[in-house]
Amino acid sequence: MIDPKNNIDAVMDIAIAGDSIAKVAANIDPSTAAKVINANGLYVTPGLIDIHTHNFMGTTPNRYLNNSYDAVAPDGFTFRCGVTTVVDAGSSGWRNFEQFNEQTIKHSKTRVLAFINIVGGGMRGGAFEQDLTDMDTKMTALTIRQYRNLIVGIKVAHYEGPEWTPVDRAVAAGKLMDKPVMIDFGGSNPPLSLEELFMQHLRPGDIFTHAYAQVRGRMSIIDENGKLRPFVLEARKKGIFFDVGHGGASFSYAQALPAIKAGFFPNTISTDIHTGSMNGAMKDQLNVMSKFLNMGMDMPALIKSVTSEAAKCIKHEELGNLSVHGVADIAILNIEKGKFGFTDNTGFKQDGTQKLVCELTIRAGKVVYDLNGIANSK
Ligand SMILES: [Zn+2]
Repeated sequence: MIDPKNNIDAVMDIAIAGDSIAKVAANIDPSTAAKVINANGLYVTPGLIDIHTHNFMGTTPNRYLNNSYDAVAPDGFTFRCGVTTVVDAGSSGWRNFEQFNEQTIKHSKTRVLAFINIVGGGMRGGAFEQDLTDMDTKMTALTIRQYRNLIVGIKVAHYEGPEWTPVDRAVAAGKLMDKPVMIDFGGSNPPLSLEELFMQHLRPGDIFTHAYAQVRGRMSIIDENGKLRPFVLEARKKGIFFDVGHGGASFSYAQALPAIKAGFFPNTISTDIHTGSMNGAMKDQLNVMSKFLNMGMDMPALIKSVTSEAAKCIKHEELGNLSVHGVADIAILNIEKGKFGFTDNTGFKQDGTQKLVCELTIRAGKVVYDLNGIANSK
């Protein structure tokens, strides 16, 4: 059992009663249980949290990830990866969060939380995401106030231009509601200063997603000589969270390998899942985690990045742990040994010897995924 929040990395038993964790101990008498699951040789962890997903699925044409075809229904890909909580990263804005809540959040067995986009219309793609007149601090803050338990923060994404307006309005809404902002740093020609973003515009607790991206128009954390830019460490010291947000083209080994070599691991690992990324180099949360496992991140650190650290990042610290009385969201994982290949969108391939697989997932005390039937008694 690996439970980073409670500093547990040991062979343990867990008892579940109803939807909660009743007891954690080295030995719990199996005869006291109605059902026993033997997880011998496997890793038992808190249910995984993916803080960057796109789940506002719908049937409106030409709307990219906003009530449209490229967004995916959470239950279709979460439980098979041990994920029990997803955080939609700005697919909806204040104009359509209610619809997102009605058609996705309320109908998902997965716990779905959300960053709302600073753009009122959400992640509609193209020109709509460039409209500064639709970036409303007050309406964004008021919508967060109305859905305080579901909305964890504000997303800025895809803005192409030299203005700091989208970032500053999101941070202003974040200040009003005491919520973090998540930044997908768009693009500009010439690129805006990443140092200015971290040190002047963002606050401690704000999140920089696509941390290992190398894309045109955006400054990357590794410089032209393969060195980690010094202000990145300053930003981490300040309290900025660095999130993977793999996506279709937002994770590059040319960034990740030197960053990891310099000891710069991510705070949180996340997918940025949509139909594009999941059929590309990203695939799913366990595949992204496996990339970091093969780059040298150890299991306790890896699990922390998708449980307690992710929970801290979204200010939901009741999640991502196996504390007694907490909700029984649990993942049982295995590490397969063999020859595996991991890619990015540049054509690069890294060979690996380990791959994470989900054996079983429990959401609120119920088995919701069981690869090899280890919960079945006959
Ligand atoms: Zn995204």
